[in-house]
Parts: sequence; structure tokens; C-alpha cells
Amino acid sequence: METLIKKVDEKSVKEAKDILTGGGVVAIPTETVYGLAAVGTNSQAVKKIFEIKGRPSDNPLIAHVHKDYDLNKLVTVKHDYVYDLIKAYTPGPLTMVFESKGVICKEATCGGDTLAVRIPSHVGCQQLLKAIDMPLVAPSANLSKHTSPVTAKHVYDDLSGQIPLILDGGKCSGGIESTVLDVTGKTPRILRAGLITKEMIEAVVGCCGIAEHKEGDKVKSPGVKYKHYRPHCKTALYTREQIKEILDKYNEEIAVGGKPYIMCANDVAENFLEKNLLLLGSTPEQIASNLYDKLLEGEKKSTLIIAVAMPDESGVYMGIMNRLRKSCG
Ligand code: AMP
Ligand code: MG
Repeated sequence: METLIKKVDEKSVKEAKDILTGGGVVAIPTETVYGLAAVGTNSQAVKKIFEIKGRPSDNPLIAHVHKDYDLNKLVTVKHDYVYDLIKAYTPGPLTMVFESKGVICKEATCGGDTLAVRIPSHVGCQQLLKAIDMPLVAPSANLSKHTSPVTAKHVYDDLSGQIPLILDGGKCSGGIESTVLDVTGKTPRILRAGLITKEMIEAVVGCCGIAEHKEGDKVKSPGVKYKHYRPHCKTALYTREQIKEILDKYNEEIAVGGKPYIMCANDVAENFLEKNLLLLGSTPEQIASNLYDKLLEGEKKSTLIIAVAMPDESGVYMGIMNRLRKSCG
């Protein structure tokens, strides 16, 4: 199958809509990462997503809807704080897990009784969702375990030949996957950290828990138990205090004929003068936005990516550190 990349416009949105309503899958841009989408009520189409990605069949998908879509068609909203969160942070990189009404097929929810829903803010994505006026389920548009794509080219590198169309909506501004928030309980609980931070949720709801995953627990968000986001080269992760260890590791790799790169925030780069660098930027938002792009650039030109940790786990750094541990730890 030939895979076409087309800039999002009226014509390509119409083509994407036709493929999707015909039971096909299409890669779509969002403000977080690119998604691999199918109509959420079509079991056969949803199965294709799992096959193409090689995704474990117990890792459910997020349903994406346009901003005027009536959520009550899909899920039961049990708590009023949900409306405050919707008002404050949607459309945007916030996914909420509700009690499902069973409209979305069981292949997408992996037979569970909950459904994760998100309203993306990406203009091209909204355009498609509005045109199709049905929920699209979509995981990230990469092969399972690989780093998530933030450009149409990244999607092409993983999935060319397997899907007919990639809608190109430019580089994703957010850069890491959405915050996944369990809103079935009296207080919300973060299942996966992202750009909508614990602090931002607390500012609206007053409180916000974080799901802890202990060995043997029934995981609430299955995605978190898998190895994830890994680039194809070797990786290592150090704290920002371990400058000597980082330089030793770098030199070891050079000594065996390798080509190491140090991936770090701009403020620690001065410790690594004249070394190969993958610079992530300065603010937490810049760093999140560049993280996967730099990992995917690094895997192409490097034998080893040495990642340097963030200063702490506050705000957006929580989501960044979660991805850094899984991709490089
Ligand atoms: P991705 O594969 O990047 O699209 O990630 C989707 C994330 O949403 C994974 O971490 C899933 O486990 C999580 N998710 C999707 N549906 C649910 C659900 N019903 N309950 C809990 N987590 C979910
Ligand atoms: Mg993914």
C-alpha cells in the first residue's frame, strides 16, 4: 500500500473522512503527538490499529471528539468537578476516564467498563472530527514501544506501506501524550502525567491524586505497565549532578568507536562543551515539545543517547521525567 502525506485542508480532510467511514485507518495530527485513528464504533477498523502498531490487546484506546460533541452520548459524568475541568482545559491535552455507556466498541476499551475521552485543540484535528461527527479512537501513530511521532515524517518512518494517508498538520506543539485523568471517583486521579499538570488540576478542583502502580496491582491505565517510547539506539539516563559519570560514559562510547550524543536542557549544556548535543530547550514546555523530536533525531545519527534528567518533578517536569525514564532509563 502506498502511504500519502497530505497537508490538512478541506480536500484532504474529506479524503480522510471517506477512508475512516469506509472502515480504514488514517494518521492524524493532534497538539500532543500524531494519532492512528479509526471510527470508534467499528470493531474491524479498530482491530487494524492494534495489528498495525503491534499493540498489546489489553491496552485501551482514547476516544477523540470535537468540542461541540455531547459527551453524554458516550459516558456517564458522575461528578460536577468534571465540568470545571472541561471548561478550564478543553479542548486540550487532557484525557478523562469515565464510566462507558458501551457505544465505543469493546476492542477499543479492551472489554473494560470505562472509556477515556479527549477533545484535542489542534485545528486540523478539530476540522476532521467536526466533519466526521463521530468519535475517533486513536493511540499514538508509531509502532508499539517506539518513540511517539511528532511530525508526519516520523509517522511515515514507522508506518509507511501500512496506512493509506497521513494528514500533515505540522510539528505537534505539545510534544508528549495527554494527561490521563481518572474522573470516576470523588476526586480526580492522574494515571499518566502530561502537560495538564497536577498543580493545574488542583487549581480547579482543589485536590488531585496520582495513581501508584505497585507490583501485582490491577493497573487502572494498562498503558503505563509497558515499555514505551524507546528510540532504536542505546540509551542511558543520569541526574544533572552526575556530570563526571556522563562524561565517562560519553568517552567510553567514543573509545569503542561509537557516536554518543548528550540530550539535555539548555542550562546544563555548558558542562558538556564541544560534545555532541541534542538540546531540548529552556522552559518545561519547550523541553516537552522537543523531547520525542530529539530522541528520533538522536536514534538516526547516534549509537548512544545519554539523557540528562530534569531538576525536579514539579509541573510539566513530572510528565517529562515519566517519558525519560521509559525511553532512556
Ligand atoms: P497511547 O497509546 O499513547 O494513545 O496512550 C493511551 C493511554 O490511555 C494509555 O496509557 C492507556 O492505558 C490509557 N487509557 C485508554 N483508555 C483507558 C481507560 N479506559 N482506562 C484507563 N486508561 C486508559
Ligand atoms: Mg503510544
